[in-house]
Amino acid sequence: MLVEHSNTPKMPVKCSVENCSYNQKRMCHADEIEVSAMGDGKARTCDGTCCATFENKMEM
Ligand code: SF4
Repeated sequence: MLVEHSNTPKMPVKCSVENCSYNQKRMCHADEIEVSAMGDGKARTCDGTCCATFENKMEM
C-alpha cells in the first residue's frame, strides 16, 4: 500500500534533554532539528548520533 506524504515531513519528537531551550515536557518544540553523526561522521549505533539544534537553556 502506498502512503501519501505531505511536502513537509512532520512528526512529534520525544526528547529527554530537558535543559535544551526547545524542550517542553520532554517533547521537542523546534521548527526543525538537525541530527548529525558524531566523530568520523559514520554512526554505528544511536549513541553515535547527536542533535545539532540543541541550545543550552542555561546559556540563554
Ligand atoms: S532541539 Fe534537539 S536536544 Fe533540543 S529538544 Fe529538540 S531534539 Fe531535543
